[in-house]
Amino acid sequence: MSDIIVQKFGGTSVGSDERISAVAEIIKQANEKERVVVVVSAMSGETNRLIGLAKTFGDNPDTREFDALISTGEKVSASLLAMALSSIGIKAKSFSASQISMKTTNQHSKAKIIDIDGDKILASLAEGIVPIITGFQGITESGDITTLGRGGSDTTAVAIAAHIKASRCDIYTDVDGVYTTDPRIVPEAKKLKSITMEEMLEMAGQGAKVVQIRAVEFANKYNVPIRVLSSFEEGEGTLISLKEENMENALISGIAFQKDLTKFTLHSVSDKPGIAYEILNPVNDKEIGVDVIVQNVSVNGKTDFTFTVDSEDEEEVKKILEDERTDIEFEDLEVDNNIAKVSIVGAGIRSNAGIASKAFKALAAENINIQIISTSEIKLTLVIEEKYLELAVRTLHKAFNLDK
Ligand code: ADP
Ligand code: ASP
Ligand code: MG
Repeated sequence: MSDIIVQKFGGTSVGSDERISAVAEIIKQANEKERVVVVVSAMSGETNRLIGLAKTFGDNPDTREFDALISTGEKVSASLLAMALSSIGIKAKSFSASQISMKTTNQHSKAKIIDIDGDKILASLAEGIVPIITGFQGITESGDITTLGRGGSDTTAVAIAAHIKASRCDIYTDVDGVYTTDPRIVPEAKKLKSITMEEMLEMAGQGAKVVQIRAVEFANKYNVPIRVLSSFEEGEGTLISLKEENMENALISGIAFQKDLTKFTLHSVSDKPGIAYEILNPVNDKEIGVDVIVQNVSVNGKTDFTFTVDSEDEEEVKKILEDERTDIEFEDLEVDNNIAKVSIVGAGIRSNAGIASKAFKALAAENINIQIISTSEIKLTLVIEEKYLELAVRTLHKAFNLDK
C-alpha cells in the first residue's frame, strides 16, 4: 500500500495563526510516519467575506471574476501554512490550482474536476517537501479560475488522494467525526465509529455538510477511504469505510437535513410522454442539481409536477421555466422557498417497513405537516415547512433512539 496520505484542513482548523501552528504540528507528526500531501480551505469566514465583497458593484457579478475573487482565500491559508511549517523545520511549498493543473469544467462556482497533474505533487514529495495545495478551486482548459461549490476543498483533497493513489484521505474539521446528526442542532447526537460509503453518500447528499457530497462520490468511485477527525483534539474520528465492516450495522445511521431549498410546482401540466424531460432537461443543461422530484397521478390528462433545487439557483430556474412556458403547457407556477428537508438515512430502511410510519407518527405528534415524501433504498426524505426543521430533526433523532 502507498505510504502517502492526504490531510485536508477546513476553515476553522486554519482560522487563526494559533490554529495554523497547531495544524503545522499535526502535519509534522504525520510526516514522521508517512508522506503527507496537504489541502487547505480558506480561513473561516473568509470565503463568506469575499462573496460579500464580490457584490460591491452589483448583485450579479461576472461569474469569471467572482470565482477569481472567492478563490483567493485558499491561497492565503496555503502560503501561511507553508511558512508555519518552515518555521518548525519542515520544508513545505504552497501550490495553487494552476500550478498543479487542476483542470475542471467551465461551469463557474460549480465546476467539476476533470484531471490533475500529479507529477508536480509527487516531485515535491520526492524532494522531501510537503506540498500544500489550495482547495476549492481549479482552472478551465483556457486557464480561467473556477471554484467547486461550497465545501469544495473536501473534493479537492479526495480527488488528489485518488489521483496519486494515496492510502487514505484524512479530513480534519471542527468536530471529531461524523455524528448521527449535526451536533450543533442536537447536542445528544452520537459520534459514529464508522459509516459505510453508501450511507455517507446519502448523509452528505441530504445536507450533512461535514463532507461535501462530491468528495464522497470520488472516494466511492476510486476506493479512497476517508477519515473525518478533529484538528482541535486527538482521536480516532470516523472512518468512512469502503466495505461494510461491521455486520451489526444500526438500522438507522443518522438524520441529515438541508435548508435553503426552493420548491417549484407546475400546476395542471398536460400528462404526456416526455413532459418530465421537457421540464427538467433545460435545468440540467445549466448544471443545476434537481433534488426531490414528484409527479402526481393525473386527473383528466393533467397533473402537478414538483421539484426542488438549491435556493441559490431559484432565479435561474424561474427564468428557464418562464422561457419554457410556450413549449410546456401548465396553468401556473408556484415557487416556495420556505421549505426544508429532513432525511432519515440507514441501511435498515431497505428491509424495515415500519421505519416510515414511525417517522410519520413522531412528526404528527409535533403537528409538523409533511409536504413531500420521497424514498430510496436507504433513505426517507421529507419536505416540510422551514420553521419546523430543527424540531423535526430533534424529534426524529429521538424517535429512532439515536441519542442512546
Ligand atoms: P470545515 O470548515 O472543516 O470544512 P464544515 O463547517 O464544512 O467544516 O463542516 C463541519 C460541520 O458540519 C460541523 O461543525 C457540523 O456543524 C456540521 N455537520 C452537519 N452534519 C453533521 C454530522 N452528521 N456530523 C458531524 N458534523 C456535522
Ligand atoms: N472555502 C470554501 C468554502 O467556504 C471551501 C471549503 O471550505 O471547503 O466553501
Ligand atoms: Mg467543509
